[in-house]
Amino acid sequence: MFSGNESDFFRLKIFIDKMDDGLIIEDEKADITLTNQAFCNIFDLSTSAEELIGTSYDDFAQNVKHLFKDPEGFVKVIADGLKPKEPVCDQLVEMTSGRYIEIDFTPAYDGDKFLGVVWMFKDLTRHYNKQMELKAISDEMLKQSLTDPLTGIGNRRFLDNKLAELYGYGDPLCIAVIDIDNFKSINDSQGHEAGDYILIHLVNYLMSSLRLSDLIGRMGGDELMIVMPKTTLEDAEKRMMEIHSSYNRPPSSIRQKVTFSAGLACTDRHEDLKSTIASADQALYEAKKYGRNKVVVSVL
Ligand code: GH3
Ligand code: MG
Repeated sequence: MFSGNESDFFRLKIFIDKMDDGLIIEDEKADITLTNQAFCNIFDLSTSAEELIGTSYDDFAQNVKHLFKDPEGFVKVIADGLKPKEPVCDQLVEMTSGRYIEIDFTPAYDGDKFLGVVWMFKDLTRHYNKQMELKAISDEMLKQSLTDPLTGIGNRRFLDNKLAELYGYGDPLCIAVIDIDNFKSINDSQGHEAGDYILIHLVNYLMSSLRLSDLIGRMGGDELMIVMPKTTLEDAEKRMMEIHSSYNRPPSSIRQKVTFSAGLACTDRHEDLKSTIASADQALYEAKKYGRNKVVVSVL
């Protein structure tokens, strides 16, 4: 297998021993013929690389499998390494110690004659943890970009994304646009903090009235939206009437009467999503125009 002279082989062994990645070469009988210190380090072996030479790699796999979160998965990676004729890369396994090891293997053939397998073990823990950290940061940033900070519900961007997604399924989709009545005067007379409290209280009330499949979001200011997927206009109207009539202003120090108005529309009565939202807005406008504290259904 090796055609150089002895000093070349000695040099090769030194290179292999200096490598950061664990390396193991097994022969056609699955016995270890060469390995290095990095390999021993990955498995926290007290034996030296030299001592492993001549031992069975399969036995070794059985002996160290308990170090992996999925021990049989690790053994399978090793067993599968003997089957294909092509190299296999990037098999990631997780150790119970929290380390992530990438295993690559390259089978060696002389014509059709199987000579053995070269295994590489790369400790990707730092790289993987960094990747997870970056993913957590980007997930958090995405979440923040879709969340209203005051109430914790989705914001307008969240609603736009979800509406487009749900509308794509083709089922009837009802949209209720909700707006607190005379909120400005409540703010003016009781202070902005009390206004915030009312807004949060209303959101919590609405959330407690929703089905699992419904969505709620804050359009901006004192305007909220409830999205009811797979719902007919009749059902949505019944539900909105019930939600509206059961609402009580927040307890404690809020002295003023707090009410809200809502406009309701369903996609099956309108040309598209945009015109459905415009109709719900128009219905809300009418609710305000005709005295507030009511639910108006779009009849367009
Ligand atoms: P209408 O019945 O016609 O809806 O009257 P309104 O006073 O509620 O309507 P308008 O749109 O004129 O006022 C909305 C007010 O909502 C204006 C603003 O002071 C208040 N507002 C918007 N965002 C917030 C917020 O985050 N917190 C508080 N406390 N008030 C807010
Ligand atoms: Mg308002």
